[in-house]
Amino acid sequence: MVQTLFPRLAQSTKIKTASLARNGATFRSQLIDWYDQNARALPWRTQPSLYKTVVSEFMLQQTQVKTVLPYFDRWLNDYPDFPALAAASEDQVLKSWEGLGYYSRARNLHKLAQILTEQDDIPTQSRQWLPFPGIGPYAAAAICSIAFDDPSAVVDGNVVRILARLSADETEYKSSTDAAKAYQELANGLLNADRPGDHNQAMMELGATLCHKQNPQCLLCPVSGLCQGRVKGIESTLPRLAKTKFEKKTVNRAWVRRNGKALLYKIPDSASRMSGLHEIPTLESLRIAPPAEPPLIERKRSITKYRITERFFRIEPHQLPSGKIGEQFVWAAPADIAALPFSGPHRKWIAELLNEA
Ligand code: SF4
Repeated sequence: MVQTLFPRLAQSTKIKTASLARNGATFRSQLIDWYDQNARALPWRTQPSLYKTVVSEFMLQQTQVKTVLPYFDRWLNDYPDFPALAAASEDQVLKSWEGLGYYSRARNLHKLAQILTEQDDIPTQSRQWLPFPGIGPYAAAAICSIAFDDPSAVVDGNVVRILARLSADETEYKSSTDAAKAYQELANGLLNADRPGDHNQAMMELGATLCHKQNPQCLLCPVSGLCQGRVKGIESTLPRLAKTKFEKKTVNRAWVRRNGKALLYKIPDSASRMSGLHEIPTLESLRIAPPAEPPLIERKRSITKYRITERFFRIEPHQLPSGKIGEQFVWAAPADIAALPFSGPHRKWIAELLNEA
């Protein structure tokens, strides 16, 4: 029989937590028992350390575990601790991160390593971590609960999904950020104060392995007896988030080759995003109008709310603007290309364009 863990939600987005005291203990013990028996053996959980926790939390933001695994092992091999990471050059760090995307995470992790290496005492409470580069409420709570048993509850997309389903909350939230804020109080109330790090990891594990967006595995779920969404048969429709409005964009790029080298653009240090990374230059940056001929290749990609069509045109060196084209442009031989850090899927596109040539 399903117990009432959560009150019926108010019409507003404020979630009531009055009944938690009654059934919160059941939830905590069912969740932690399940985690103790079913937690996946992940490398950051084997002989855990603050460094492994921090690296894994940075890598796992917006990225799936199976993508992170090979990067994590290589990273630990190249930079086994904070001092080793702090001593590396930014170029080295960006190169090691290449392919994981969202490069500001790599830069922030590098800066964080430099800050922590300089500190005599490393803070242990999540609020003390918030001023550090790349640390938001989620990362602060995850790191401090796992590494220091700080009683801070994490709320990310996985946790929102579980809590919305458990409480059968049919409120439509404007964004996942709004939903996370609305659920923070409920997550705090449910936190297992004796084992906050394991509780947080158990919530993430439940969201990643059973409470999937589609087809949640309710028959295997340790807290199904408390799930109001399942009772109502609406679990797969929750949480309700306003639909994202996507915008279409086209980016025209120039594939220019001279003496076996390819023209690349290095994103300047002053850029707010992806500085120091290389990419195939845009026609716009070279002040060249799109040619009448069709592109060599065309590729689609999505970045946040943008659906982008990338078109690559063959441009001959004599079509480049006369005079200097600017110090951000570099001619790179294949051996240089192998060593340079690239943004997004540019390395893959370069390989495809080399095949076209
Ligand atoms: S019973 Fe199903 S919907 Fe409810 S929390 Fe468990 S897996 Fe998610």
